Amino acid sequence: MLNKNLCTFVRVLMDYGVKKTAIVTNTSLLAKETIKDLLDSGLTDLTASYDGTSAKENDYIRTGANFINDSQNLLNLLKLKKAQGSPLNITISNVQVYTKNEVKRLGNGYSDYSLQNMPSYIKERFKEFEDDLEYTSFPAMVWPGYDIISSPYKIFVNECSDLSKICSLAFETITVLANGNVVPCCYDLRGDCVFGNILNNSIIDIWNNSKYTRFRDNLKKGFYKDNGICAECIIYSDKFLIKN
Ligand code: SF4
Repeated sequence: MLNKNLCTFVRVLMDYGVKKTAIVTNTSLLAKETIKDLLDSGLTDLTASYDGTSAKENDYIRTGANFINDSQNLLNLLKLKKAQGSPLNITISNVQVYTKNEVKRLGNGYSDYSLQNMPSYIKERFKEFEDDLEYTSFPAMVWPGYDIISSPYKIFVNECSDLSKICSLAFETITVLANGNVVPCCYDLRGDCVFGNILNNSIIDIWNNSKYTRFRDNLKKGFYKDNGICAECIIYSDKFLIKN
């Protein structure tokens, strides 16, 4: 939502025949004037993120967030979507910091797509639109580069971890940061592993350059630790934040 050209990007993609366009937002910038543009752009999927088990915890985890105001923006969008009969799919995503035992109980099936697992503060707020929404909930993972020293949470490594899996993100997706830098995946929040910049080179040239190719080769061979960032990644270590 920070990018003022977002709706133009969506329209261009639709004109190229792209079937699915999706954004993930904390909804704080979903202003009334933006909502109509977004619906008119043809965007197909929007995920709204609210975390924790209470509005207070959401506002703590998401620095600067205000659940009441932010969720009002989504309510406004839901109302207009209904009035216009827009086909936009809207999902509410909720990340929770579990206890060690709760994470252990999850085994390897981390995601939950049921309304049942939504915290009551979210269910109550969106009760009117319960049937118009989809839901996803999963435990808080440890992102590469996460600052555990100043965190109120601890880290737990789940022993159910399957180290034989291969990360598909580096093969099936491409991630471009707002400044044009191309990084391996959306887990590289700080842009630590840059393969090139689309303002200087074509995206195809960057995808095929030696640094990017070596990175993918390492993953194919199971040498994920040689990629630096991948050694820290939840794909290979199943690290979660826990409350105790
Ligand atoms: S293993 Fe993790 S950090 Fe490495 S490319 Fe895959 S998702 Fe990104």
